[in-house]
Amino acid sequence: MNILVLNAGSSSLKWQLLQMPEGKLLTKGLAERIGERDKGRIIFPDRSFEGDLPSHTRVLEKLKSYLDEHAAWPIHAIGHRVVHGGNEFVEPVRINEKVKQKIRSLFNLAPLHNPPNLAGIEASEQYFPGIPQVAVFDTAFHQTIPEFEHRYAIPEKFYRDGIRQYGFHGISHSYIAKQVMKKSRAAVKVVSLHLGNGASATAILNGKSVAHSMGFGPLSGLIMGTRSGDIDPSVLLYWMQQLAMTAYEISRILNKESGLRGLTGYNDMRELERLYEKREARALLAIRMYVNRIKKYIGGYAALMNGLDALVFTAGIGEHSSLIRKKTCEDLDYLGLSLDAEKNLNPQLHDGLVHAEDSRVKIYVIPTNEELEIAAQTYQVLNPHSS
Ligand code: AMP
Repeated sequence: MNILVLNAGSSSLKWQLLQMPEGKLLTKGLAERIGERDKGRIIFPDRSFEGDLPSHTRVLEKLKSYLDEHAAWPIHAIGHRVVHGGNEFVEPVRINEKVKQKIRSLFNLAPLHNPPNLAGIEASEQYFPGIPQVAVFDTAFHQTIPEFEHRYAIPEKFYRDGIRQYGFHGISHSYIAKQVMKKSRAAVKVVSLHLGNGASATAILNGKSVAHSMGFGPLSGLIMGTRSGDIDPSVLLYWMQQLAMTAYEISRILNKESGLRGLTGYNDMRELERLYEKREARALLAIRMYVNRIKKYIGGYAALMNGLDALVFTAGIGEHSSLIRKKTCEDLDYLGLSLDAEKNLNPQLHDGLVHAEDSRVKIYVIPTNEELEIAAQTYQVLNPHSS
């Protein structure tokens, strides 16, 4: 079964065509700068297009004609990444009018993400009519987080209005949970660290998310490329009350001008590593802060799960920065966790296992694959008796 995976952002659309259940990649590409006059770009494996891309619909039209040229790749189903499933969606679902309506009703919770996600769905209905479509939600994996963990200590009426932790990066953490189970059945208590431009930590107990660092929105928790992570809400009140800053300004600062960029001027970890090697003061401070924050979550989650069997690093920084892995794992011997310095430099040579022989906790470096996870979940929805 060939599954087209679509990940539609506000001005971008990425796709992969995967043959499932084998997981074989047939083709992939992306469109950028959708909606920016004459600046649009589509990259196919063997050609590119530059020009006006007024909407996701136009991209789908071009993708459809590209795929029509490849008769060997008929499309049997489409899997869409949808960022926010609210309380409505605890698992992936086949898309129908009612599902679209519910995704629309969540626009206010994810104003930057759900509208383009729905635009991608509607455009593919137009160009791939009659082909089953499935929505896979980034929040769904975290719906197993218990109430005592996902609630905020604020008056109950707000909880009834939907103010609670939802969590994000769920497609990635769910993929990691499955990969860890394949590698070790004994790994029951797992902390998954998704360290990319966005970053989050998840406590996974018996394959299920039980605690997570992002919250109502994707701002809380770890320090990220340009997002602050945890910050005392008093700071926001101070900005509003004493400096008359607007919600728009505060949002820009916390989402785009904070995190590693706010601390150093750079949001790319490669640049920070270069400055760190030169012992540049701001880079030393930023990396110390970045790592300290991660450690707090590891320790906190080990406490909640009464122990830890495996720690996983994934996404751009988690997969590629041996420095961040080394610093994170320093002085965690109280947990029985010890990194092998040599293996850490080349995890791919060691099947991603980077712990020392005598480490009680396993340490894995696992490349995340959100597209494959979306395809796998889409396949599962359409073939419920397959596994
Ligand atoms: P992602 O959001 O998962 O694509 O991760 C993007 C981030 O990964 C970039 O902003 C970089 O900071 C980081 N990154 C990518 N490659 C490397 C590398 N070789 N070493 C350190 N950091 C990297």
